[in-house]
Amino acid sequence: MEKVAIIGTGCAGLTAALYAARAKLNPLVLTGIMPGGLLTTTSIVENYPGFPEGIDGCELMQRMQKQAERFGARIKFGTLEAADLSREPFVLTVDGERMETETLIIASGASHRHLGLESEDLLERKGVTYCATCDGALPLFRDQPLVVVGGGDSACEEATYLTRFGSVVYLVHRRDTLRASKIMAQRTLAHAKIQPIWDSVVTEVLDVKQDKVTGVRLKNLRTQKESVLAAAGVFVAIGHIPNTQLFKGVIDMDANGYIIPRQGTMTNVPGVFVAGDCSDHVYRQAVTAAGLGCAAAIDAERYLAARNE
Ligand code: NAP
Repeated sequence: MEKVAIIGTGCAGLTAALYAARAKLNPLVLTGIMPGGLLTTTSIVENYPGFPEGIDGCELMQRMQKQAERFGARIKFGTLEAADLSREPFVLTVDGERMETETLIIASGASHRHLGLESEDLLERKGVTYCATCDGALPLFRDQPLVVVGGGDSACEEATYLTRFGSVVYLVHRRDTLRASKIMAQRTLAHAKIQPIWDSVVTEVLDVKQDKVTGVRLKNLRTQKESVLAAAGVFVAIGHIPNTQLFKGVIDMDANGYIIPRQGTMTNVPGVFVAGDCSDHVYRQAVTAAGLGCAAAIDAERYLAARNE
């Protein structure tokens, strides 16, 4: 039986693993389908303290994993399919395998939000993507007009990155001001290759009939006018949805699926703790996720110590 099982290997999960390992709890960490979490889809992380020149997102996560493993954390490639939290120890099903654990730290992160268009789904991986750093360099996007949807830091980062490949990058945002941090917004809007398209939403990705992206249909929300913009790629960067569906009805969460922590990182189920983007829709930073991962491991350690007193 495990003392501590951790779901997720993003900043929260791996920092929880580091602290739990150093507390000699020999944690088991499940990667889920995206080892390293969302940060592995980022290029340079410029705001993680300790790296004044910035650090590649993948490298940062590999370093975190190495550091946790150095103290005894065990990383297992696997996806949690079911969790029975109604009995102790908790019973987890991971890729068909049953396992038991005394405590659980949920650090399952969040996934990319979709626009919710049928044409978007049909053209995914045929020009529609959610990650510029993963797909931006593909030949089909080279020297072509590209569309980024969104107005936050992610959209700005994607748009800036794509200027290396596209002939022009249209930044389609539903309002007329960016939500992104000032520095990112300024950098993005100052770029000669980036053209903002304000007050507009994508109503259709074209062209399903041709089975590839040829452009987008846009609607201006102020004038209600529709237009078509030619593009070879659509990069959707409109935020995230917490990966908490598995715990619905068992762990308290808000209407958007973010887990609601009680005291510290505790949830409504004693022995289950939460950390990172699956419970934080306010800060959502690598460093805050890491901090919460640390807190969850300390809370789990104290919970186990109190039980065994
Ligand atoms: P975000 O800040 O939530 O921004 C999402 C953007 O998408 C908003 O501009 C929103 O519009 C728009 N949007 C949401 N739903 C939409 C829809 N259905 N259709 C059209 N547009 C839609 O998400 P994010 O940019 O992914 O950033 C998440 C967090 O990560 C933030 O805290 C951010 O600071 C951080 N981050 C930091 C960095 C960095 O520092 N290097 C990079 C990436 C992300 P509205 O503005 O109208 O709501």
